[in-house]
Amino acid sequence: MADDCLFCRIVRKEIPAKLVAEDEHCVAFRDINPQAPVHVLVIPREHVPSLDHARDAAMLGRLSLMAAEIARNEGITANGYRTVMNTNAAAGQTVFHVHLHLLGGRSMHWPPG
Ligand code: AMP
Ligand code: ZN
Repeated sequence: MADDCLFCRIVRKEIPAKLVAEDEHCVAFRDINPQAPVHVLVIPREHVPSLDHARDAAMLGRLSLMAAEIARNEGITANGYRTVMNTNAAAGQTVFHVHLHLLGGRSMHWPPG
């Protein structure tokens, strides 16, 4: 836990968020600035700054599996969805608590910008 980390504060429920799912390891909530009709962030409860700092394969796997479960619940699986993890500045990472974006409900372009 990092005292000054925005997402740790969401995990501790010090900052409100629209929770979508949570379990003992992960928390999922709606992005405050959604880039698609469904835009959910899935994070570990543990403070890990980025994918580059991650060493726990099970934690990373849980983020993906929770995103897939939320996609099914949100009804976006058949049409398709995207999961994205931005790492460091050039990729657009702005919050340094690792998070998996789940985006869906619209068509996606490739390559991403
Ligand atoms: P990234 O740019 O990959 O680090 O993603 C950070 C995401 O966190 C952005 O999509 C922001 O819109 C989102 N975000 C920032 N603050 C909040 C908040 N308080 N609640 C929900 N999402 C947030
Ligand atoms: Zn944190």
